[in-house]
Amino acid sequence: MAIKGDYFDGFEVMSAWEREHYLNRRLSRTIKHAYKHASAATDILDKVRVEPAEIKTIKDLEKLPITRKADLIEGQEKNPPYGGFLAVPPQDVERIFISPGPVYEPLHSSRIKWFARAFYAAGFRKGDIVINTFTYHMSPTGILFHEAIKDCGATAIAMGTGHTKIQVKTMLDLGVTGFVGTPSFLLAVIKKAEEMGHDLGEDFSLKRAWFTGEMLTPSLREVFEQQYGLLTFQAYAVTEPGGCLAYECSEHKGMHFMDDYIIEIVDPRTGQQLGPGEVGEVVVTPIHNKTWGLIRFGTGDISSYTNEPCPCGRTAARLTAILGRSDDTVKVRGMFVVGRQASQVFADFTEIDRFQIVIERPARRDEMTFRVELKEKTVNRDKLATSLNKSFQSVCLLRADTIEFVPPGTIGKKEKPLVDRRIWR
Ligand SMILES: [Zn+2]
Repeated sequence: MAIKGDYFDGFEVMSAWEREHYLNRRLSRTIKHAYKHASAATDILDKVRVEPAEIKTIKDLEKLPITRKADLIEGQEKNPPYGGFLAVPPQDVERIFISPGPVYEPLHSSRIKWFARAFYAAGFRKGDIVINTFTYHMSPTGILFHEAIKDCGATAIAMGTGHTKIQVKTMLDLGVTGFVGTPSFLLAVIKKAEEMGHDLGEDFSLKRAWFTGEMLTPSLREVFEQQYGLLTFQAYAVTEPGGCLAYECSEHKGMHFMDDYIIEIVDPRTGQQLGPGEVGEVVVTPIHNKTWGLIRFGTGDISSYTNEPCPCGRTAARLTAILGRSDDTVKVRGMFVVGRQASQVFADFTEIDRFQIVIERPARRDEMTFRVELKEKTVNRDKLATSLNKSFQSVCLLRADTIEFVPPGTIGKKEKPLVDRRIWR
């Protein structure tokens, strides 16, 4: 059970009235600032003939169109580097994150506690030693989660991804009590530890795990909690608007909205807001970072929310599980594979005629297969497979598990280049 009264800050327990006023005030200020300083935001409002002063409440956001990842990528290509979304002088940009696309995200203040509420709700405190297994390379995850661990008073180990054997040794040597990563990676680390002859309960100090980037299925959660005695928490993060949109408390019944964003669940066709329990797209407007004039960013994630009071005492609404994706972007092992970006990688290989990326999940781990049709039989397949995977990894930060060369005509002309066959159970 959650301990009532143990919160990171007062925002988490604002009354409904306080929250409504706080969010509306911040939203109105954000829109005015973005309209004045970010040319893309000016265009968005001008196009629909809405004055910034007309956006006073969350409901008013319905008057504005949704900006999608593809719009951001295209905008940044046409008007580099930020596509007109930068709302401060360039010299005031403190750090720039790069998300798949690529999308360049300028951020201003490191004082913002991006993920701290999420980590605090997961129980990270002073005295904890936490291994952060998200990548610190070309992705915001490493550094943001690292800072959040510190913000809760815990000690952060800048580990990064991969190298399960070294992860196991580090966890043993340093008496690691907390894990931050994807559920499938924790499972891989546990399996490696067992392979090395260790018993998680006997030899390790690990107590809690914080996940994002990948769905934590009820059955896998049960394995972690029942079989290994771990406390597990998950959060919903989206990189383009800059952070953690929602996070779980120990009730594990949905993820509380973070008050640094306006989160809407909308009908993706009309942009109209939906009510509690209705399934739609998650749309987000950051209101905590005046650097990035992003308004109504469509995440492509499908979910719903509830307003029911939570026994933990936090008063923000809760997002239910993320149910799927609405466009051609697929999250694989915590990283986005953007259809368009992947196609560009394959297009560089003139030997390849057609291709298809298939994502499956046979043993609770996302597996990615490239199906490739060649123009000519004589191509050196091993060599091609190696350089294709290398190129793909340099752009999408992931490698294929299998590269399958299929006979010409196998991949139908109408088939999608990115196929998600995962069954979540
Ligand atoms: Zn709660």
